[in-house]
Amino acid sequence: MWHSGKQKLAVREAMHPSELLRELLVCPVCHGELDQDAELLCRACGTRYSWVTAGDGRRVPCFRAECGEGDLSQTRTHWALATSPDRDTALSKLRRIIGAGYMPRRRAWEGMRQELLTARGEETRTLEIGAGGRRLTPRTVTVDLLPVGSTDVVADATRLPLRSGSFDCVWLEFVLDHCADPRSVAAEAWRVTASGGAVFAHVPWIVFYHDFPGDYWRFSVEALRALFPEQTKVETGVGYGPGVAAVSLLSELWARIFSEGDGIWPYAVLRAMALLVLFPWKYLDLVLVRTPAAQRLASTLYAVARKPVDFAPSR
Ligand SMILES: [Zn+2]
Repeated sequence: MWHSGKQKLAVREAMHPSELLRELLVCPVCHGELDQDAELLCRACGTRYSWVTAGDGRRVPCFRAECGEGDLSQTRTHWALATSPDRDTALSKLRRIIGAGYMPRRRAWEGMRQELLTARGEETRTLEIGAGGRRLTPRTVTVDLLPVGSTDVVADATRLPLRSGSFDCVWLEFVLDHCADPRSVAAEAWRVTASGGAVFAHVPWIVFYHDFPGDYWRFSVEALRALFPEQTKVETGVGYGPGVAAVSLLSELWARIFSEGDGIWPYAVLRAMALLVLFPWKYLDLVLVRTPAAQRLASTLYAVARKPVDFAPSR
């Protein structure tokens, strides 16, 4: 029995997403099979793709014309609290108290996310589009515009080089607002979702302009539902509440009167000053998130679109 732990580890190592990916990759243009050995080449339409080096040194496939290296770290600058795991340094504790982020029902929120990410236990196949260098679970395949961090595939989200129905869960967190064509991105996310699987989208609603790589859209609850085919069961709700929206907007307003860029001085200092005064307002969300007004004024909204088990995949 003593070796069972070791076996488990071996299994986990064998399941690295890049291995999983080999069998899931197809040509983004025609969905034909790919030669993946020396060259990356579509056997059906003859389109050639390239290999690039990811942020962690692995060779990863690139399906975009520009495969250059770059920095996507700014993507989540304003939303670091939303996605980073809890840390316990004094500074991060202070940030949690006076920062704009706050979620009264954080446990339920995390529980919902964990349920999606582990719908089929450790075997759950997740795809994160626009992962920004992170890996949500050891089995998560990551797609991004640039080969940052742990990116597994460099591709355009409107044309995923992935087989239909490949994933139990597809993750779109603060990504659709940065896509010029969010409908096509949602359609692709839906296409690669397996029957019985789900797409999770977390989007800003009442949030100030935040660029990189371009800030195009805001999504209401109706807009989120309209991203998926009619008759789809789409559950929607509040991510960050109206209190967070107010604190965030007012502190941004104050800081923007005197600054253009995102530098420490004057922007970050002014914003911190405003937050010191305004942060108690975010605790209104303790009450507000329970009211019908929450979805009208929320800072962020989420949707979980479930694909029926008997859904016939279109190729
Ligand atoms: Zn092709």
